[in-house]
Amino acid sequence: MGIRDERVLRAIAELPRELFVPEELRSRADGDHPLPIGYGQTISQPFMVAWMTQTLEISGTERVLEIGTGSGYQAAVLGRLCRRVYSIELVPELAAAARDLLASLGIENVEVRQGDGSRGLPEEAPFDRVIVTAAALRIPPPLAAQLRPGGRMVIPIGPPDGAQFIHVVELGQGGELEDSERFAVRFVPLRSEESGVELDWHR
Ligand code: SAH
Repeated sequence: MGIRDERVLRAIAELPRELFVPEELRSRADGDHPLPIGYGQTISQPFMVAWMTQTLEISGTERVLEIGTGSGYQAAVLGRLCRRVYSIELVPELAAAARDLLASLGIENVEVRQGDGSRGLPEEAPFDRVIVTAAALRIPPPLAAQLRPGGRMVIPIGPPDGAQFIHVVELGQGGELEDSERFAVRFVPLRSEESGVELDWHR
């Protein structure tokens, strides 16, 4: 389960993670663990960012949808590897901070939108790749529907604080979904705009 993709390793090596964590945590930014970024959210562990990125199998031409911008770190890594990233963040303050940070780094192919990403981004669909960095109770149907045939989604599935597993979902050319469960993970929950809890169709 190692990270062998040289492009992924280079993208991560070239992007200082300390810029994406709160100032008082910068000395811990090199460690392979998640860190708090405020609003009860976290920046993912670097290994998880690397694994999910490698597993998306990006060649360079793709348009990628990310749900859960958080700090913007995963989005910035993706931005170095694909054509365009659309990243959706529910918490307005995090969306604004990530947008400012990416702009200050001169990253122009990553677009951050504020909103409930579990609905996807129909106006920009279909996407070659979808990555979800918060745990859903099941695969959100709108996200599967916005995948291009031959496309791929990487998403953690499972209850908040329960048994979550990372899934790799592929949409065949004939429109069939192939869902493969990989390993146990721990992500913050995917929440809905209105209530702060999971949407009905998550159940
Ligand atoms: N990819 C991020 C990790 C963020 S943690 C990084 O690299 O830092 C997951 C994020 O998903 C949190 O910021 C949380 O606010 C956000 N989130 C939760 N539910 C969401 C939803 N329905 N739509 C968009 N973002 C959501």
